[in-house]
Amino acid sequence: MADPNQDNLYAMRHSLAHIMATAIQRLWPGVKFGVGPVVENGFYYDVDLGPDAKLSEDDFEKIEAEMAKVIADNVPFERSQKPVDEAIAWAKENGQPYKEELLNDLKRAGTTLAKDLDAAELGTIAEGDVQVENVSFYKDGDFTDLCRGPHVESTGKVGAFKLMRVAGAYWRGNEKNPQMQRIYGVAFGTPKELRQYLDMLEEAKKRDHRKLGKELDLFVFSDLVGSGLPLFTPRGTVLREQLTLFAESLRRESGFERVSVPHITKTELYKVSGHWDKFGDELFLVESQETSDKFALKPMNCPHHNQIYASLPRSYRDLPLKYFETTTVYRDEKTGELGGLSRVRSITQDDSHAYARPDQVAEVVAGLITDVQTLYLTLGMSLRARLSFRDDSDKYLGEPKLWDEAQATIRELAQTNQLEFFEATGEAAFYGPKIDFMATDAIGREHQVATVQLDFVQPERFGLEYTAEDGTPQRPVMVHCAILGSIERFLSVYIEHTAGKFPIWVAPEQVRLITVNQEEDTVAFAGKILDQGKTLGLRISVDNSNESVGKKIRDAEVWKVPYTVVIGVKEISSERMIPRVRKDMEVIATHPEMNFDEFLKTVANESKSRVTKTSL
Ligand SMILES: [Zn+2]
Ligand SMILES: [Zn+2]
Repeated sequence: MADPNQDNLYAMRHSLAHIMATAIQRLWPGVKFGVGPVVENGFYYDVDLGPDAKLSEDDFEKIEAEMAKVIADNVPFERSQKPVDEAIAWAKENGQPYKEELLNDLKRAGTTLAKDLDAAELGTIAEGDVQVENVSFYKDGDFTDLCRGPHVESTGKVGAFKLMRVAGAYWRGNEKNPQMQRIYGVAFGTPKELRQYLDMLEEAKKRDHRKLGKELDLFVFSDLVGSGLPLFTPRGTVLREQLTLFAESLRRESGFERVSVPHITKTELYKVSGHWDKFGDELFLVESQETSDKFALKPMNCPHHNQIYASLPRSYRDLPLKYFETTTVYRDEKTGELGGLSRVRSITQDDSHAYARPDQVAEVVAGLITDVQTLYLTLGMSLRARLSFRDDSDKYLGEPKLWDEAQATIRELAQTNQLEFFEATGEAAFYGPKIDFMATDAIGREHQVATVQLDFVQPERFGLEYTAEDGTPQRPVMVHCAILGSIERFLSVYIEHTAGKFPIWVAPEQVRLITVNQEEDTVAFAGKILDQGKTLGLRISVDNSNESVGKKIRDAEVWKVPYTVVIGVKEISSERMIPRVRKDMEVIATHPEMNFDEFLKTVANESKSRVTKTSL
């Protein structure tokens, strides 16, 4: 699915990485370069200015000005080739040890990707068998770089860019290696597109969930509890609860039954499942003072649910068996990678596992796709799906016939459910094909959210069976699904999507009553309305403070309360009122004036039916 515009943008961004390196080399001639790839919306380059020098954002103006010169010169990007040993000699002569290391890896293993290389050999001198004979270089003016390309024709053809930030980055991501500086830039085809992107970032800053989390008192962190372990306040807990209840109601309607498992397990379980080998270093280990068994905090729920499935003999008539649970898993993420709710160590999932006969997979997956669509439609986010399929390599486990059928089923379901989707060959998990859903938020950013994953491997590893109609034992297919995914991560997305202006059914505080004075009548009346609202299940409060009405109304605005009702002499005598509706809320029909009872019941109905527009 090559898109010429995307390809050109890629070449532009990559060329800008070279242009930035060109500029930096002119300004700091001794600079040593690491890698300079294209990333989302732009590019970066890792540089090492030596022990005594450091780049800062104050240097960006100078670097950008030098880059502008390179661009104005419009010199061609010239490709050349060197035998790999000559290239290594070139890197040595030019004082580029990082490039030298990359070239040695390339020569020995045919790749420079640290994750694909033998750790023991990484960064050593290549001797013996040679995987790569020649390597390519690109030159723009006075700067030459080891590179595979592609590039734009000349330095003048790179669109609009801006340097954004500089961060520390260990060489090859390993903290034992020297720390370099990573300079990020963004780039787009036109100045207008760059402007739009920068405006979006400004808006994103205002909506930052960490900032709003504080302002709206939703969650906190405590040094005593530890990083990556968010604590949710009463208001934040309402958010979690409302979103979870919604996801759970969809599960129930689709025939899922709730199960419940403990948060620790013997590590054996993860050895059987195969997760120990893959995720061993992400596990929190727990010690018993009583037995010598080793325990871990669960990093996922599937192996536990499998044990419930395996606890009874199952017949073809029992399937599909569908379990769901909203529960927390724990992963020992690196401290440096934690951030707000986006990346945490206690991850709450709205997880489900269905065990189905092969002929039932379509029905199960169809139900899950519908549930995902219902939830995101209600939240006002549009969805796109990536169908992650296998390629021809041998890294996939399970019968090829099962794979082919499952992939055909998924494709067909995506079409019949009118999902916007694309296929990604080679992106499947080793255990089965999957659907990854991406939701677009209010400012156009796409976030990976729900997943539906087929699994042919865990049933095998755990020896899960059912008795088929002909009496033979058969393996069920397992279908994993999370609709919200990680609730913490989802909240980081959702808080920013709404900018904290939650719809009625999610809002921690739905109605705020404001008294005009502290007189007995007023206070009593407000108290009566408060009780009525609570009886209807509303999240309602009274502001009876000694402040002016104007100040109280502004306060309610700051807290982004959907409905505010002022209670004064007129309201008390007539028992009628006009609610103030939060400005962003779309009104479908306005009432001039209504009695309190009618108002409270309408809000309760709106909340129950999860409306996105108000009729008040
Ligand atoms: Zn390049
Ligand atoms: Zn699972």
